[in-house]
Amino acid sequence: MHAQLEALLSLQAEDDVVDAIVTRIDAIAPRLAALDAERATAARQLEQTLDQLLAAEQKQREIGHLVSEHRQRQDRNVAQFDLVKRMREAEAALSQVEAGKKLLLDGENDLRDIEARVAGIRQAAELHREVLAEFDATQEGKRSEIEAARRALQAELAAAQSTRDGIAERVPKDMRAIYDKMRERRRTQVVYPLAYGACSACDTSVPVQRGKQMAIRGTLEACEGCGMLLYATE
Ligand SMILES: [Zn+2]
Repeated sequence: MHAQLEALLSLQAEDDVVDAIVTRIDAIAPRLAALDAERATAARQLEQTLDQLLAAEQKQREIGHLVSEHRQRQDRNVAQFDLVKRMREAEAALSQVEAGKKLLLDGENDLRDIEARVAGIRQAAELHREVLAEFDATQEGKRSEIEAARRALQAELAAAQSTRDGIAERVPKDMRAIYDKMRERRRTQVVYPLAYGACSACDTSVPVQRGKQMAIRGTLEACEGCGMLLYATE
């Protein structure tokens, strides 16, 4: 095989190595973004729970005030009842005591409910806080692990690119210009051998005479079917 073709095929092989490393480097940004998103979710959950807690605590205070008002009124009702002597007044005072008692009991039930609710939300907030703290504690390790992977890949990339540049110098300038332009656009294999007189990428045939000349001169031809760069070997 012509030395220039051999050099071009080596260049293509090294470009595959370079592109594979670039693909791995490109995959790193989403990993960091996923970490950010995970933390944001944990933080949002904590924030929402704390909002719920504030609202429930406010409600608890309101119900608490209401119950203590009921209780004071009920104390007055009972005192009033103790004071009355006459039967008719006693009946009225008694029904007031009964009504007040019901209000107070209902209020106390509401208070117990809201207290249980506040305790539940507080517990949930505590859990979310722990998740977030745990996340922050391990976050730095995860990030530096990813950063280290990125640095290693970048070193690998620099080495592969310098190997690539070394090989590129062995490829004639005009051939390289055509190859580089196509490679940059497609970022995958663009040089294909003729196989049994046809393009090995798309199977379009090349006239026998032309194939022979390509083999003798070691030149490239664009495939009429797929546009890939074809070479022939004798
Ligand atoms: Zn083709």
